Order: sequence, then C-alpha cells, then structure tokens
Amino acid sequence: MDLGLVFLAALATALATGLGALPFALAGTGRIGAGRLALGNAAAAGLMLAATGMLAWEGAVIGPVAAALGGLAGLAFIKLSDTILARFENLDIGALTGSDARRALLIVGVMTLHSAAEGIGVGVAFGDGAPLGWFVAMAMAIHNIPEGLAISLVLVPRGVSWRAAAWWSVFSSLPQPLLAVPAYLSVVWFRPLLPAGLGFAAGAMAWMACADMLPEARAGAPAWQVLGVLALSVAGMLGLFALLPEG
Ligand SMILES: [Zn+2]
Repeated sequence: MDLGLVFLAALATALATGLGALPFALAGTGRIGAGRLALGNAAAAGLMLAATGMLAWEGAVIGPVAAALGGLAGLAFIKLSDTILARFENLDIGALTGSDARRALLIVGVMTLHSAAEGIGVGVAFGDGAPLGWFVAMAMAIHNIPEGLAISLVLVPRGVSWRAAAWWSVFSSLPQPLLAVPAYLSVVWFRPLLPAGLGFAAGAMAWMACADMLPEARAGAPAWQVLGVLALSVAGMLGLFALLPEG
C-alpha cells in the first residue's frame, strides 16, 4: 500500500466532514431564535453521544482497561479545558464573543482532539491490510458528516457563516490524515495507543454533550422537545452506520 494513498484516503475522510455544513448552505444562515438554537444543541448532543458510544465500544473491544482509563482522562481533560476557558470572559473569535466564543472553541477543540484517535484507527487499519483500511476510511468519512453537522449546529446559529463552519468542520478532522500516516508506518508502536485514544475521545465528547450542550438545550426548550430531538439524532447516526456493509 502506497503511503501517499493512505494519506489521500484519510484526507478524503476529513473533507467529508465539511459536508455537514451543507444543510445550512441550503437553508440559509443567520442568527435564529432561542428555541431553535436549543434544539440545535440537542441535535448536536445526540450526534456526539451516538459517536461516543461507538468510540467507547471500539476501544473496549480492543482493550477494555486502556479504554476505561482513556475515558477518565478524556473527562478530566475536557473539564479542565472548560474551567480554564471560563476564566476568559472577554473571549472573542471572529463574529463570536463571550460564552458563544467559548462554546465554539470547545466544540472545535473536542472534535479536533477526538479525530486524532480516529486518524490512528485509520492508519492501523491500513497497516492490517488495504481492504480493512478502505473499509475503515469509508466508515470514518460517513461518521464525519454528522460530526461536521454537530459543529455547524453550534457555530452557524451563533452567527458564523456556513462556509466558515464547513472549514472548521474540515479543520477538526485534519488530525486524521496527519496521524494516519505515522500510524500506518508504525502499527506496532501505535496499536497499543488505540484503545486508550478511543476511550479518551469518547470521554471528552460525552462530557461536552452532557455537561455543556444538553443543559444549554434544556434552558431554551421544554424537556420533551429536547429529548425527542436527542433520540432522533442518536437514531439517525446509528441508522447511518447500519447502512454500511459488513467490514
Ligand atoms: Zn468521530
């Protein structure tokens, strides 16, 4: 397997993340009301929780103890980042200020970190043989689209353009091509890191969804709506994966 091809496959999966912003390109952008913003948060939380479940499962199948320890480290890490970011009250990034900027930074940061673990997964899979590598790369590309949607659901309603949201989505997946290559070159070295990395990613995403996005959603919309949207987005993400052929 050519090294350049591994890089290109992982780069293509990263570009797929940008497709998540497409619904906003079609629907138009601009700030929306508090109720819809709340439901956008609920939908993003559902997509992330479904992804969390899949990451935790994959990690636990390879190495349960490492995955569990990685998960705890992920929770601790994101809690710490959140606490540190909360100190910067006058944070502003582009069109975003204050708590909007903090939330934007947090979701792009968490998604970027978690895709590092997935990049290792893609590289290790190619190391185990081209057919498995292609399968994992394709699964990852499909998995990335709703993650781009989750990022866009947080950014666009707060005033970021859909184009910028698409680029931030792609940015959040750039660790995939960057880490797939070394992981492919040194499967022996990277394989033991995989369950811990997947656990770490799951822990960080679970914290972000439960401690940040769901309370925010609950503050702006009634519980039945939040739970309904949450359940639908979890089901949508899992349904997407059910469509994949057996690998
Ligand atoms: Zn992911």
